[in-house]
Amino acid sequence: MSKFIKKKNSQFFGTLRRLEDWFERRRRILPWRDKPTLYRVWISEIMLQQTQVATVIPYFERFLTRFPDIETLAQSSEDEVLSQWAGLGYYSRARNLHRTAILIGARGFPKDRETWLELPGIGNYTAGAILSIALNQPEPILDGNVERVLSRVYRNSDKKLLWRAADFFVKSAFEKKIAPSILNQALMELGATVCSPKKPACQTCPLKSFCQARSKGDPENFPTARKKKIWLQIQEELYCLIANETQTQILVRKRLPGEWRAGLWDLPNRQELENIFPRFSARTSWKSLGRIETRHIVTRHKISRTTHLIQGSGARFCGKVPQGFQWISASTPGLAFGSALRRTLKKLRETFPEALQ
Ligand code: SF4
Repeated sequence: MSKFIKKKNSQFFGTLRRLEDWFERRRRILPWRDKPTLYRVWISEIMLQQTQVATVIPYFERFLTRFPDIETLAQSSEDEVLSQWAGLGYYSRARNLHRTAILIGARGFPKDRETWLELPGIGNYTAGAILSIALNQPEPILDGNVERVLSRVYRNSDKKLLWRAADFFVKSAFEKKIAPSILNQALMELGATVCSPKKPACQTCPLKSFCQARSKGDPENFPTARKKKIWLQIQEELYCLIANETQTQILVRKRLPGEWRAGLWDLPNRQELENIFPRFSARTSWKSLGRIETRHIVTRHKISRTTHLIQGSGARFCGKVPQGFQWISASTPGLAFGSALRRTLKKLRETFPEALQ
């Protein structure tokens, strides 16, 4: 690769300049590009991991309204952070974000790659993105979009080599006074909007004169196909217990540390209800109102969920419940509900409108 670049040195620098110009003209307006402080760039980069830009925008704006700075975030509870994250998926990101906020709140924002990498949830890509975009340091990045672009430019899918290429791009640009923040975002933007997985728009690409895959006519062959995503099938049988005929509150429980989706609220299963209410198994203390079937995809899990809607009678299920359980209105906002619970409750309300107001 380096031989190839040396041979094309002047062409290479011209290409970098065209890439910079292209980005200045074509960049999308995104909320985190406005005032790219360390705090805003860090939050956006964590949200953008595995998640599309259009999905992230409203979450980013709500999150920044609720937690406008590192101090507010560090002083908030994990529950509050999870409730703002609810629906965005990959909840370990939110838990790590909160842990990192506490560490940064105590020590300040790191200013170098090694210190960022010591923080929870920060990998090579995220560290490079934060340092280059917020601090203009010539640090490389290689997310899916940049990988696709560079893999085609060099007709090579070797990740190590592509990291070296990303490093070469950003450092060469820095030498020519092209800001690392512009260069890295330009590569990402190019991958997101021009160099698409299928039918890349090579005619409009600022790298076209430099791109080996374009000249060979086979961009879609790069990067070479990865292993197919392996789906985990999960069957769940849960109970939505309405307290009784007059109190329409339902019981939810918080998933424990170590459990999948820890910290999020969900409906209990039968065993959990029997543990709390010893007479639950008698079956005379509640009646069935029906059940629904729902399917959800959460990260790499395919969840098939049967939810029974049941109603207690008299005062049997009212009152105090153990820590980690809570009676709520079926439409209560504020608790950290994952997308599976929110969709389940929506379908329950649509199917049984009179029981769940
Ligand atoms: S020329 Fe085509 S394949 Fe090469 S980087 Fe540009 S869009 Fe991608």
